[in-house]
Amino acid sequence: MWRICGQELKRGEKRQAVLNPGMEDYELPVTLICGKEPGKTLVITAQIHAGEYNGTPAVIRTAKEIDPMKLKGNLLMMHCVNTSGFRKQHWRTLPEDDFNLNAGYPGRPDGTTGEKLADWFVKEVFPRADFLLDLHGGSVNEVLTPCLFYPKAEKVTNASLAAARALDVPYLIASGAAGGEYSYAANYHDLPGLLLERGYGGFCREEWIAGHKRNIFLLLRHLGMYESEEPETDHEPKVYEHAVYLESGKAGLWYPAVKENERITKGQPLGRLEDFFGNVIQEFYAEGDGVVFYYTGGLSVREGDSLVAYGLE
Ligand SMILES: [Zn+2]
Repeated sequence: MWRICGQELKRGEKRQAVLNPGMEDYELPVTLICGKEPGKTLVITAQIHAGEYNGTPAVIRTAKEIDPMKLKGNLLMMHCVNTSGFRKQHWRTLPEDDFNLNAGYPGRPDGTTGEKLADWFVKEVFPRADFLLDLHGGSVNEVLTPCLFYPKAEKVTNASLAAARALDVPYLIASGAAGGEYSYAANYHDLPGLLLERGYGGFCREEWIAGHKRNIFLLLRHLGMYESEEPETDHEPKVYEHAVYLESGKAGLWYPAVKENERITKGQPLGRLEDFFGNVIQEFYAEGDGVVFYYTGGLSVREGDSLVAYGLE
């Protein structure tokens, strides 16, 4: 028997359900699979940022494919967390309150929609999970090369990084964030986890879906939960302990000077901010040698918006 989020499953059972996460009128489509044999509980989330689509079809296909009789442990797969954002085509945050599920944890039970949703994860999901996998992709105005973030949280860094190395992702980036779904769980619930990034621009491409799906199956194997035909990865990933998240100091017209996955050298121009008359407001240069993980395509940026994220060698 497996109990989670108000659901109760028998060994060998697979169930599709629509959960109401702390709110009657909020719909969260999930697949729950209780394996024939005992093992770990893995929670997979897609689209906590609406519009970062590729995780959703990867989860839908994985949910169909997994045979509960061959599974050790339990799988809770959330097909789309920010469902209201998905339906309204409101990118990233929740349309109800602009809440960012990758930054605003822990939320509160009597708060806004996003705060309630975060609080529900903290109370109903984190205490019953052994590992979190959060699937993302670059946003509509964000161009990105496949990479992942693992939490810098003393007790779970090693377990998270070991899992990351078992996946097929070229860049593994240490993250000191603590307010997102997986990062809050890592820092305050000692729950190992990973945030995977693949795809961008609001596109949903087969190769990106396949990439996310492949990594789900590689993780299941690493956790001793499921065997599959998925071939092992044959290249060494590169680990980045230090990354720079360049933000705009002002609003303006942003002209990036780099591309995703581009090697950069110290002092190289990363882009410039101009006004509507073409006057340069600010110019940005690389702090050191490294590689670009993602950048904002432009043109409009607000004060505090992300411009370029790059890893330092
Ligand atoms: Zn995201």
